[in-house]
Amino acid sequence: MSHTLDPELRRALAARIRYYNEMGIYDFYRRETPGEVATVAAAAAASDAVAVSIQSESREEMSPRKAATVAVPVAVEDNIFEVLAPKPEQGVSDPGKALKIIREDLGDCTRCPLHKQGRKQIVFGVGNPTTDLMFVGEGPGADEDQQGEPFVGRAGQLLNNMIKAMGITREQVYIANIVKCRPPGNRTPEREECETCSPFLMRQIAVIKPQVVVALGAVAAKTLLAMNSSMAQLRGRFYDFKPTGVRSSDPNWDGCKLAVTYHPAFLLRDPRQKGEAWKDLQMVMKELGLKAAKSTT
Ligand code: SF4
Repeated sequence: MSHTLDPELRRALAARIRYYNEMGIYDFYRRETPGEVATVAAAAAASDAVAVSIQSESREEMSPRKAATVAVPVAVEDNIFEVLAPKPEQGVSDPGKALKIIREDLGDCTRCPLHKQGRKQIVFGVGNPTTDLMFVGEGPGADEDQQGEPFVGRAGQLLNNMIKAMGITREQVYIANIVKCRPPGNRTPEREECETCSPFLMRQIAVIKPQVVVALGAVAAKTLLAMNSSMAQLRGRFYDFKPTGVRSSDPNWDGCKLAVTYHPAFLLRDPRQKGEAWKDLQMVMKELGLKAAKSTT
């Protein structure tokens, strides 16, 4: 059964879920009839009028109401429940295996319009599944679409050099994008496309459990942080970050730090900003205890 949820309502519901996630609440139940509670996952294909009842183990803290209820009096979109339902990789302790499960779950994805706008393949992500450092860009370009790997074109070469300057190698980090299919003509991905695809990235982050995520460019930063600020406002500090809508299977991982810097493609267009980007990376290196590579020149 295919349903469509109004985009504004979908965004409002996603924001509410994020709010509850931040309070440590991850388990959501769908109230089928008054007094009857069924799991959302089991009920996802069911009715036209839905009430999502959000219950916490610490319900007393949710005063004055014992449990909050979000009434959604419209058709249910199957997609929205991917945010809510238990994830198939949960409980898998090997991050490499868990990433494979996420990739299988993504399948030959047709969840957003980018699937029919000329993509050759899905570009999932690449690198060390147990790394302390992740880089997240915007979306694949032509080279990435061709090779199925993020950051392999000119911008990728620059990113490799940036990573090398940090005293590490590309193989030691994990690299992914907000959207996994190439936007036609390298246009900026639409907000709807970012919101549809990024839950898979959130799951990747929850599996990898890095110490630091570096958002490359405004699209990555704004999507991950759910903030609509300028690069000038976003850069130069760390944010406490927890992937939205997903719980890491490691109870000891309580999120990570997130830093924002310029996208390498932007630095190719405006090399004068490389010094600023290096300042951002130095902040990350300090956090991770990395030493800059010795110059060979
Ligand atoms: S961009 Fe993401 S959500 Fe859209 S079709 Fe590709 S994999 Fe699916």
